[in-house]
Amino acid sequence: MLKFLIFIAAAFILYKLLTGDFKKKKDVQTKEKENLAATGVMTKDPVCGTYVPVDGDIRVKQGDKVHHFCSYECRDKFLKQIADK
Ligand SMILES: [Zn+2]
Repeated sequence: MLKFLIFIAAAFILYKLLTGDFKKKKDVQTKEKENLAATGVMTKDPVCGTYVPVDGDIRVKQGDKVHHFCSYECRDKFLKQIADK
């Protein structure tokens, strides 16, 4: 019976730890999203002229400038342009 109680307690603590961590992570992600939505920072895709959010994954660092692209196609075009110069 005692073993059973210990098992329940351990499971409960583990459950609390896991759910607590997940909740924290979710809160941070939500906050980050809210911040981005609030600032709404957009930048221009230098290839096609589309406005893309600066937090986008498709980016190229050139010197101290970071260019953002709407698609990998645009990014590749841009990289080719740099290479041709
Ligand atoms: Zn584009």
